[in-house]
Amino acid sequence: AQATTETGKRVLLAKPRGYCAGVDRAVQTVEEALKLYGAPIYVRKQIVHNKHVVSTLEQQGAIFVEENEEVPEGATVIFSAHGVAPEVHEQAKTRSLKAIDATCPLVTKVHQEAKRFAAEDYDILLIGHEGHEEVIGTSGEAPEHIQLIDGPHDADKVTVRDPNKVVWLSQTTLSVDETLETVARLKKRLPMLQSPPSDDICYATSNRQQVVKEIAPECDVVIVVGSRNSSNSVRLVEVALGAGAGAGHLVDYASEIADEWLTNARTVGLTSGASVPDDLVMQVLEHLAARGFTDVTEVTTADERLTFSLPQELKRDMKAAA
Ligand code: SF4
Repeated sequence: AQATTETGKRVLLAKPRGYCAGVDRAVQTVEEALKLYGAPIYVRKQIVHNKHVVSTLEQQGAIFVEENEEVPEGATVIFSAHGVAPEVHEQAKTRSLKAIDATCPLVTKVHQEAKRFAAEDYDILLIGHEGHEEVIGTSGEAPEHIQLIDGPHDADKVTVRDPNKVVWLSQTTLSVDETLETVARLKKRLPMLQSPPSDDICYATSNRQQVVKEIAPECDVVIVVGSRNSSNSVRLVEVALGAGAGAGHLVDYASEIADEWLTNARTVGLTSGASVPDDLVMQVLEHLAARGFTDVTEVTTADERLTFSLPQELKRDMKAAA
């Protein structure tokens, strides 16, 4: 048990939390592109799923669009961390756009797996959330071979051409436990189902879930900083509740924390999704401290050191300009 202050109110601060290597790289890509080419820089879709990051980059001169058609011919466009289907690259070429691809290398890895298994004529079961940008991008690699499995319930209705030639792949930001359940259900129907060559759920997603599982049983409430459209952030609230937290809430900013969430709480858990800058978490700590939660203990379950280098096409131009 942790020592508590006089108020008995404490915060368990999860680590790892916040920025992963892929988000860090994607945000830096936009910042460096703005420095190098000057504003405006177009970004197709939210570069990462975080309100604050997007509005900060907007203030610096980034223009976020939904599709390539909204980008003036010949301009620079950055593709978001979630990845794009090959046709999006094609469209960019047709419009003579200078495309910089900020897709996370761990998403690209799943694209490569999809392409490889499709080339070998496998049926691919892609576990993921319908409509999520990453799933749309990955599916675009081999639409005729991929079917989407959106959670365990979808496993029961799957049909394949050859049950001996099926593989499952997944979105990178799913719940680890729910995915295991989905796979177990799929395997009941398809005993020869093959697994991805390496985990598709990324290190950042699983590490953030693991530490939340560790702290949740001790927490009256767990606050997750993250945006509603951030898959891995939403999963953290679910994981906290599943692991025994009294309550769980997702907030973009400290100001969204309702006082009644804290009324009877003694232990508050705090973490953030992979697209969340840590200053937003620090603001929540200040907000909590002002309400008597001054005893903060950081609980660490993994040490993350992974970093990714910037996209080649950007690095080349940076070098040429140096
Ligand atoms: Fe890459 Fe994982 Fe971060 Fe997504 S959450 S950007 S897959 S490291």
